[in-house]
Amino acid sequence: MFKSIPVGATLGVLGGGQLGMMFIEAAHERGYRVVVVDPDPQAPARRIADGFIHAQYDDQKALDEIAASSSAITTEFENVPATSLSFFERRGIRVCPPSEAIRSTQDRRIEKKFFQSIGVPVGPYQVIESEEEISKTNSELFPGVLKTACAGYDGKGQVRVSERADLREAFNSLGRVPCVLEKRLELQMELSVVVARGSLGNTVIFPVFENHHDQGILDFTICPARCEPERIKQVSDFASKIAQELHYEGVLCVEFFVVKTNSGVQIFANEMAPRPHNSGHLTREACDYSQFDAQVRTLCGLKLEHPGLKSPAVMVNLLGKHLEHSEMIEEFCKKEQKAFLKIYGKTRSLPGRKMGHLTVLGDTVEAALKLATEIRSVGV
Ligand code: ADP
Ligand code: MG
Repeated sequence: MFKSIPVGATLGVLGGGQLGMMFIEAAHERGYRVVVVDPDPQAPARRIADGFIHAQYDDQKALDEIAASSSAITTEFENVPATSLSFFERRGIRVCPPSEAIRSTQDRRIEKKFFQSIGVPVGPYQVIESEEEISKTNSELFPGVLKTACAGYDGKGQVRVSERADLREAFNSLGRVPCVLEKRLELQMELSVVVARGSLGNTVIFPVFENHHDQGILDFTICPARCEPERIKQVSDFASKIAQELHYEGVLCVEFFVVKTNSGVQIFANEMAPRPHNSGHLTREACDYSQFDAQVRTLCGLKLEHPGLKSPAVMVNLLGKHLEHSEMIEEFCKKEQKAFLKIYGKTRSLPGRKMGHLTVLGDTVEAALKLATEIRSVGV
C-alpha cells in the first residue's frame, strides 16, 4: 500500500499557471520541492519552482525527466494528455488525480453520461457531432448554448444559439468539432464544491461556494453560499458521490446550477475540474487549510482533516483592466488587514485573462463583498 511521501522529496506538477504556483507555495510550506513542466517559458509558477522543464505535456524526454526526479506527480490543468499521466502510473509513480479520472473530465459527453449514470442530474442537452445531427435537434433545447465537447474554459469554446437556424453557423464557428448543445437555463444560483479524497477513500468537503460569472468568466465567489442548508447538503453529497465513483484521489471541483423549474428548485451538475478551482482560492485565507494544501496532503498521503470555514469571505478575480493601477489596490490592502491580494505575475494581459485575485474576509459576506468591490474598483 502507498506510504506517505517524506518531507524533502520532489513532487512533479504538469502545468505552471497560477494554480500550479499556489500548489508549489503549499508544497514548500510542508518542505517539499517541486518541479514543473509547462510549454510556456513565462509560466507564473516558474519563478518559484525548484525545477522547470520547458516542454509540451506529451514530450517524452520531459516526461522521462520529471519521472526520474519526482516521488509523486499531479496536474493543475485538466487538458494534459491522460496518456502522460498513465505513463507515470505504469512507472509505479503515485499520480493524483488518476489518469482514468482525468479522462472522464476532459470530454463533456463522457462527463454528462457519467453524472447521469450515477444519478446526478444534468440539464437537458444533446450531443452534436456532425452537420446531419443539427436538423434532428430537439426544439426544447432553444435558446441554448453550443459547447465544444473538449478543451473549453473560461467561457471559451461556447456560443449562444437562439434558435435552430443559428446552429449551423455556431457549429462552423467552433470548427465543426464534437459539441454538446445545452438548453440555456435560468440560473437562480451557481454553486461549486471542492472535494479532497485520499488514497484510503477518506473524503473531506470544503464549504460550498456561491459563484457569479461575467461573460462566462468567474467574477466573484462568496462563502458561505447564501442558500438553504438542504441545497448545500444536496450538492455536497453529489460531489462526494462523484469523487467516490471516480475512485478519485486528489482535489476535485464540481460546478452546479441551481435552477427554478415548474416542479420546484432543481440542481444540475454542470461540469467538473480535476484540480483546485478558481472558486476555492478564498480557502487560503478563510479555511483551516487551503485547497492547495489539500492537493499536497492527498498527493503525499498526509492527514486530511475537515477544512472548516474560519470567516465569511469573498474572492474577486482581477483581470488586466483591474490591475492597471495595482499599486493603489496594494496600498488599500495594506491598510485593510482583512484583504489579501494575489498577483500571478503573468507578463501578458489579454482580455478576459485572469491576472490575480483578491480575497476579503468580513463579519458577513455582504460586508466582505462591499469592501472587495470597493478595493477592486480603485485599480480600474
Ligand atoms: P467553462 O469551462 O468555460 O467554465 P461552463 O460550462 O462552466 O464552461 O460555462 C461557463 C459559465 O457560463 C457557467 O458558469 C454559467 O454561468 C454559464 N453557462 C454555461 N452553460 C449554461 C447553461 N446551459 N445555461 C445557463 N448558463 C450557462
Ligand atoms: Mg465552468
